[in-house]
Amino acid sequence: MASVTELGYLTLGVSDLAAWKGFAGQVLGLEVVDGQTPDRCYLRMDYWHHRITVIEDGSDDLKVTGLRVAGQDEFREMAAQLRDAGVAVTIGSEAEAEARCVLEVMFVTDPNGYAVEIFHGPLVQFDKPFHPGRRRHGPFKTGAGGLGHVMQSTRASLEENYAFYRLLGMRGGIQYKLQVPGAPGPVPLMFMACNDRQHTFAFAGPGEKRVNHIMMEVERMDDVGLTHDLVRQAGLPIIIEPGSHANDQMFSFYFKNPSAFLSEIGWGGRSAVHQSEYYQRDAFGHAPVPGTMKGFMVPA
Ligand code: FE
Repeated sequence: MASVTELGYLTLGVSDLAAWKGFAGQVLGLEVVDGQTPDRCYLRMDYWHHRITVIEDGSDDLKVTGLRVAGQDEFREMAAQLRDAGVAVTIGSEAEAEARCVLEVMFVTDPNGYAVEIFHGPLVQFDKPFHPGRRRHGPFKTGAGGLGHVMQSTRASLEENYAFYRLLGMRGGIQYKLQVPGAPGPVPLMFMACNDRQHTFAFAGPGEKRVNHIMMEVERMDDVGLTHDLVRQAGLPIIIEPGSHANDQMFSFYFKNPSAFLSEIGWGGRSAVHQSEYYQRDAFGHAPVPGTMKGFMVPA
């Protein structure tokens, strides 16, 4: 059975590209590269051509998750196993692959109706070292763990999402039965992994947007602190104070980006243990900032 190996890239739709360029370069410390057309730019985190494509389309949401498979054998095997399971698969043209800076790409839709791209062979530019938009203490933690993790809202049930992402070779399940004050019962949150990153995807209940948050991990704790300072200087709302999750044990905080969904910056996450456990609350911190949580699912 072929399996995806990591979250390789994301496509975001935004309403204010100029604001995103400033935010990505000066607050997150990513490298901003102009796109071929004025309506888009690329964000780099490492040697890859890009990790995020930002398109000015007014949607202010996640448009695509790009999941990597190891190579062309696994790519063909993945297409076959999805089709055998009744999933509609469209193999991208050479031009579509080239536009994404990958060797091959296929297009599928998950049970929520969300676009998912499965690819192999990203363009890696060892001739073009990562050049961050601002000073930083250290690099982002990418590598075999992919670019980070994403929490998405769900339109289908958690079970339907589990079944679909299992077909892609991901593993996981419910990890939190969150005790939320005022909620009628525990809130279940589901997490899926495809490598040693504790989770690549998190799934919560329905939400206004597809995306709840995108997490990027840094190699040095100082970069969590520096980002926290820069978020405050930029006047961006901090939504969840610094703290540590019980599942990935990452020291992180959450703030609102120019598209009004959340960014999480974290450090020191533990590796996936590949056995099921569940938690009722975080290890410490992560208090919601009063008055800021309206319209947001509780992130984890
Ligand atoms: Fe998270």
